Amino acid sequence: MSVNFEPLRKILELEQKKGYTDSAVIGGLDRFLHNRASQARESITNPRLLNCFHRLINAGYASLTKPQRKEWVNDVLDLVAEVEGGESTEAKPKGKVVRPLARTKRLSAGKSPSPERGYSIESPITIVKGISTSLATKFGKLGVKTVRDLLYFFPHRHLDYSQVKFISQLSEGEEQTIIANVWQAGVTRLGYRQGTEAIVGDETGNVRVVWFNQPYLAKKLPTNTRIVLSGRVSLFKGRHVFESPEWELVEDKDLIHTGRLVPVYSLTQGLRPRQVRKLLKEVLDQWAWQVEDFLPSELRKRCELLELPQAISQAHYPEDEVAKDKARVRLAFDELFLLQLGVMSKKHDWQVSQPDSAFEAKPSLLEAFLKSLPFELTPAQHKVLREILADLQKPQPMSRLLQGEVGSGKTVVAAAALLLAVANGHQGAFMAPTEILAEQHFATIGKLLSRAGYQEEKESYLRSYPGLISRPLTVALLIGDINPARKQELQQRIQEGDIDIVIGTHALIQKGVEFHRLGLAVVDEQHRFGVTQRSALRQKGFRPHMLVMTATPIPRTLALTLYGDLDLSVIDELPPGRQTVKTKWLKPWQRDSAHAFLRKQVASGRQAFIICPLIEESEAIAAQAAVVEYERLSQEVFPDLKLGLLHGRLSANEKDDVMHRFRSDKLDILVSTPVVEVGIDVPNATVMLIESADRFGLSQLHQFRGRVGRGQEQSYCMLLAEHPSEVGRERLDIIENVQDGFVLAEEDLRLRGPGEFFGTRQSGLPDLRMAKLSDMALLELARKEAITLFQVDPGLGTPEHQLLAKELARVWPEAGEWS
Ligand code: ADP
Ligand code: MG
Repeated sequence: MSVNFEPLRKILELEQKKGYTDSAVIGGLDRFLHNRASQARESITNPRLLNCFHRLINAGYASLTKPQRKEWVNDVLDLVAEVEGGESTEAKPKGKVVRPLARTKRLSAGKSPSPERGYSIESPITIVKGISTSLATKFGKLGVKTVRDLLYFFPHRHLDYSQVKFISQLSEGEEQTIIANVWQAGVTRLGYRQGTEAIVGDETGNVRVVWFNQPYLAKKLPTNTRIVLSGRVSLFKGRHVFESPEWELVEDKDLIHTGRLVPVYSLTQGLRPRQVRKLLKEVLDQWAWQVEDFLPSELRKRCELLELPQAISQAHYPEDEVAKDKARVRLAFDELFLLQLGVMSKKHDWQVSQPDSAFEAKPSLLEAFLKSLPFELTPAQHKVLREILADLQKPQPMSRLLQGEVGSGKTVVAAAALLLAVANGHQGAFMAPTEILAEQHFATIGKLLSRAGYQEEKESYLRSYPGLISRPLTVALLIGDINPARKQELQQRIQEGDIDIVIGTHALIQKGVEFHRLGLAVVDEQHRFGVTQRSALRQKGFRPHMLVMTATPIPRTLALTLYGDLDLSVIDELPPGRQTVKTKWLKPWQRDSAHAFLRKQVASGRQAFIICPLIEESEAIAAQAAVVEYERLSQEVFPDLKLGLLHGRLSANEKDDVMHRFRSDKLDILVSTPVVEVGIDVPNATVMLIESADRFGLSQLHQFRGRVGRGQEQSYCMLLAEHPSEVGRERLDIIENVQDGFVLAEEDLRLRGPGEFFGTRQSGLPDLRMAKLSDMALLELARKEAITLFQVDPGLGTPEHQLLAKELARVWPEAGEWS
């Protein structure tokens, strides 16, 4: 059998770099070697080498002095080279199936694997011994598909079982660890179920241990077994008892469940914590050392960051709190640094690659437009409009983020900017995150424009407005599922410049859509779109101006990193006369009275939303669940009222129809999946009931709530939650009491961390798993280093930046420039 010496070599090389401090591997080198000795022995056939090997392995590295260690490491490395050079080929069995793990020799991350070995950290996890296809499916549900994913599948916390005590020192309530001898263990009846009971002891005394529901444990703990127990101690009839502690036999290998900082993974059904810990430990020992460190070593040293393999290992199985923290810092730095490099590079590409277009200010046109509105702009709207207009008149393309609370009136500002683009002979694009929103913007912008000019009715996806500029201004709606022939015709007319403003979804940035002269692109509700989509939209134009709008307030440093390509404008006040929405978190048994309240509001002429639970698996399942809920509500709860249903699986026409009926007050209650989250504007809707409210983020709940309270009437938001978790309860408590969107966003970031908060996966940004909001200093550092690097080597072309270029291409796959 051939054996993989690569991990050993990497560890020894690391040990060299670390100055022979016996810190290259968790648990020390002796233990590591001991675990692998038998495997190695089998693969060495030459007796002389085998002899050397024995001597070395039995030397007791830990007990050597530094110079001795140095000599020892060099000897082993020589030996490994000799074994690999002379023996491995002859030891390789011909035609016999070789176990996957044994075939990883000399492979390292990213290098194209040699055909006969064939495995790298990019290989599927099924190459790991002990991971079957069915286990792999379970990991797949967690997004873990490759060995790399597994290495980066970090625990969300650690249990501190590192304090080992004597039995006489145990106290109730705390997490504690003991090392003890099993005196006796057996199956016992605990309440109505069977369990295991054991008496264990050390030189200071004995203690009783019980495991509920685990009668099979009794067999695993014969008398006189040495065992480590970690867990909580309680008091029963005046005596200490360990209740269902983690346990582990004292063997000659690293502790992974007890006696240390023990990782806790977020698992899905069918994955057991002990099994996952064990697997991860093996995978780390085998593979972590094969991850190449892509940070230039200069930079790594300057920033005092751990090496990558070590950071990965320590993030799972830290030696102590300090090591755990260092690991997190290194991994968080990577995320922020790569993010920053990606964003900067995109901005760079875009700014240098295209010709310019400065708009002429058309004061009389804009004035006429603003005069035609049924309201006065707020001072804050005026201020940001001035900032935008100033940008539009410059030859450099605008790149601006417009932040404004839900309902602060961003759309009208965007409409004014689009009008200016058109008046300058350019086209405008308005991109929304969902079709429903695109349709709504199409309607709203139409309404705004038709006040200034006279509206001529045309087909449902195409309108024109004479009276604004010298010719009729045409606005089109381009969404995914309109009739293909129509769509093609629209695309044709967009390309010929026959259409002035195009409103749509992602469909706008898909292939096939060419603009004649795109001058301004507006992207609504930014947190659904990422920098990738922004740059795709930019490619569509001859360097178009770009306005990105969001209702999600972002702290400045984070904004600089995530939106490093954007300048910032803020609408910091709401139009006058807005009501605060009375928000109440109800207990499950109050659902009936919530329904009665809806009924009362409807009776007095108002309308209501009911938001169905968030279902993560798929939009199809969410839609299905919403249909069921809708039917139940219409037949059993509100048989006398008019209900409508909105979900992502409806066709554009169906959605349009439902929204139209709701908007024109033909429906009393709109039952919806969470797709209504952003932007929908129906002032007569005054009450919203959110089911499973605990499962939404704070910002999202706030967005929902922003759908009511848009008119003059007092509005209400009722939250229902069946079994809220601790964090869920905290969120509900906050949303009940806080109305300010900025405060809520800060809280949301605190509770969820930026990765989840921004939904980076959907938005095309690389994942942020380790970076936290509290990492402001680290954010600054990553930004500074990225800027420095970018100045020196923007294309990452120098040899010392090759690994980094590769890593960037991996996390930003859309950007071809690094690969
Ligand atoms: P958001 O910023 O959430 O996108 P909208 O643009 O949808 O907000 O505006 C919300 C509502 O407020 C719309 O009905 C809009 O017509 C109205 N609105 C916008 N600006 C003003 C204003 N200055 N005064 C009164 N109502 C306004
Ligand atoms: Mg909006």
